[in-house]
Amino acid sequence: MQRLRYFHFPLYLILFTSSLAAQPVVVQRYDSVTNKIVREALSSNTSFDNLHSLCTTIGHRISGSPQAAQAVEWAKKKMEEYGFDNVHLEPVMVPRWVRGTVEEAYLMYSSGRRESLKITTLGGSVGTPPEGITAEIVEVKSFDELNRLGEKAKGKIVFFNRPMDRKQISTFAAYGGAVDQRGGGAIMAARAGGVAALVRSMTTRIDDFPHTGGMGYVDTVKKVPGIAISTLQAERISKLLAQGEQLKIHFKLSAQTQPDVESFNVVGELTGTEKPKEVIVIGGHLDSWDIGQGAHDDGAGCVQSIEVLRILKKLGLKPKRTIRAVMFMNEENGLRGGIGYAAKDRPGEKHIAAIESDEGGFMPRGFGIADSAAFRKIAPWAPLFASFGADLIRYGGGGADISPMGPKGIPLMSLIVDTHRYFDSHHSENDNLTAVNERELALGAAAMAILTYVMAQEGL
Ligand SMILES: [Zn+2]
Repeated sequence: MQRLRYFHFPLYLILFTSSLAAQPVVVQRYDSVTNKIVREALSSNTSFDNLHSLCTTIGHRISGSPQAAQAVEWAKKKMEEYGFDNVHLEPVMVPRWVRGTVEEAYLMYSSGRRESLKITTLGGSVGTPPEGITAEIVEVKSFDELNRLGEKAKGKIVFFNRPMDRKQISTFAAYGGAVDQRGGGAIMAARAGGVAALVRSMTTRIDDFPHTGGMGYVDTVKKVPGIAISTLQAERISKLLAQGEQLKIHFKLSAQTQPDVESFNVVGELTGTEKPKEVIVIGGHLDSWDIGQGAHDDGAGCVQSIEVLRILKKLGLKPKRTIRAVMFMNEENGLRGGIGYAAKDRPGEKHIAAIESDEGGFMPRGFGIADSAAFRKIAPWAPLFASFGADLIRYGGGGADISPMGPKGIPLMSLIVDTHRYFDSHHSENDNLTAVNERELALGAAAMAILTYVMAQEGL
């Protein structure tokens, strides 16, 4: 299969004639370096060892938590131990949401029977009154359907049960098509007179693990709690409702939002030998949701970014331009780290690219490049990634943390990985080390190291 991709390659040459002369030279020039990088990534296993350390000594690390503070120290110490240049912290104020506990949650049948129900509080949700919330469930698949219910939604727990679209090849597109229910469900439920939002978990898998994730409020609408149930429970409850069962749910939560606290982006680099003020940012986010271990999301992107610098340093490859690893804080519930990094004044510096790894530590497939000039320049380098099947160079890409750099004209890029399993564990207790394959994680780091090193030498 892989060989077929070579047949596509001449297309790039035809389409981008300006790269015609340079292409074979660049690929030939970095061919042996590429092999060394891949061998070092696979043989050392350092990216997985570091992920193991982050996930087991600290675990999950939501913004503003003691674990997030430990993760900041962990990342700084790692980069100092490897001897990276200019390792430092950049302060940023972050929200502090505290899950508390789900004290009670059960289904109530019209017969009076009660059955315990596994729920997870959505990130940012308010808690319940001390006595909890007890109300009948009304199911909808969309906000339109909710609006059409009119009076029927009053006093109810609105159950948003539109599944992620399994027909979508891109799991991120399927997620994007369903996540409005989680993000805006509580606002829409309250507007309709409902007392809470109950959301089907964002995964295509049918299993019994609820997934959390961010949700929002607006000042003009009453704040009602948002909770999620597993896809298995969602299917079951839907079936019972369709049979005419008048189901109620009772639940009691102690979630709360506390004042913002200071946290940090963690930064380290290999300073460029010839053009140190030209900077390539590579990064992921250090915070995670507060269940599971945040292994794929986004411990993987963090350890890969550290690994890029470690590999280059170990191999004695000195980049001409600065390669800067940034572990952003607060991607999950505020993006304050990404916003803060882009807003900071950095006199004399010019960012030539920013690459994010935040789609999980799965098998790398290539890079998405959201800048046409950068795309034209990089597309002919694809054969450098072909030995491990990561030679897909696609137009379009980026990442949440680096997105605030986009309006400044900085070319944004993302590591493309095989994401079919990403939402199996995303934001759930299954996002832990056992979900990550060490070779896939290492090859992702190798792909990033190759791209950043060649960019650092060749410019964009
Ligand atoms: Zn993430």
